[in-house]
Amino acid sequence: MRPPIRAALSNALQCRCPNCREGPVFRGWPNRVWPRCPVCGLSYFRESGYYLAGMILTYAATAGVLIPTYLISLLLPDMKAVTENERFALWSLFAIFLTLIFVRPAYSLWLSLDFWIDPWHPGEQQR
Ligand SMILES: [Zn+2]
Repeated sequence: MRPPIRAALSNALQCRCPNCREGPVFRGWPNRVWPRCPVCGLSYFRESGYYLAGMILTYAATAGVLIPTYLISLLLPDMKAVTENERFALWSLFAIFLTLIFVRPAYSLWLSLDFWIDPWHPGEQQR
């Protein structure tokens, strides 16, 4: 039976297996995913390139914070002490920082949403 979407989403944000909700999704920093759940054996890779959608979600979340922040920063008084290059470096660091924050929830969200829409069973490798 399909779990409620809210439970699936909160499970995703905790980076837990969408099937048993116990096994961790990640085994290394920042986004190394286990090949399968260490607890129930559910495959975390349904097909090759599976986490492309996770990358797109990461990118969308990063852009969704970066662009509004940039637009708001245009309203602030100009900081003459900061050069163009320094400004570019700061925005780049901010973008990398956001990516590192969002990459895990985005990958986990993709896995949980896909499982919620069309569940598969431990032992099944690919569709
Ligand atoms: Zn599991």
